[in-house]
Amino acid sequence: MTEIEQLAALIRVLSRLPALGRRSAERIALRLVRDRDGLLKDLIQALGAVRETIRECSLCGGITTRDRNPCPLCSDQRRDDSHLCVVESPSDQMIIERSGAYRGRYFVLHGKLSPREGLGPDNPRIRRLLERVTQRGVQEVILALGMDVESEATMSFLASELEKRGIRVSHLAYGIPAGSGVAYVDDLTLKRAIVWRQPVRPE
Ligand SMILES: [Zn+2]
Repeated sequence: MTEIEQLAALIRVLSRLPALGRRSAERIALRLVRDRDGLLKDLIQALGAVRETIRECSLCGGITTRDRNPCPLCSDQRRDDSHLCVVESPSDQMIIERSGAYRGRYFVLHGKLSPREGLGPDNPRIRRLLERVTQRGVQEVILALGMDVESEATMSFLASELEKRGIRVSHLAYGIPAGSGVAYVDDLTLKRAIVWRQPVRPE
């Protein structure tokens, strides 16, 4: 590989990052190579440390460290086992946790139902969730997903599967803007959306 090919390879890797187009990837790559003893070195160090220590929690699928698996949210005895909050990503889990309105357990889906992304009803994550609700006395599942078409499809699929298993299913109340998810609301709105959550299918 020539030097320029190596730079092109870096740009290709960077443009695979979420929300980063090719132009931004180029700008970042050029900035990194111009600052090899500063930013580039720090980034290599941080990436190495993350690769070494950060893991996915074996219970909820959130982010944890190698020596704390299950994560603190799954192993904290003071949390309520009867409530399980289903989120799309670890960052949504962090946002709900930061709101302080929820003291139950979590389950991270790592996506939503989309045949395009291979997250159909046969997806291992969905199977894992359906197994998970039969453990530790889960009584209510709160679907804290977004308000876009794929999230709604995911919610309706999960709601019917969970109800078949005798689980109460609710979703976040008003306040989540249409077409978005929990990442787009402020803490107070999110707190209200959790406290005033609604049954997916009113009795
Ligand atoms: Zn966990």
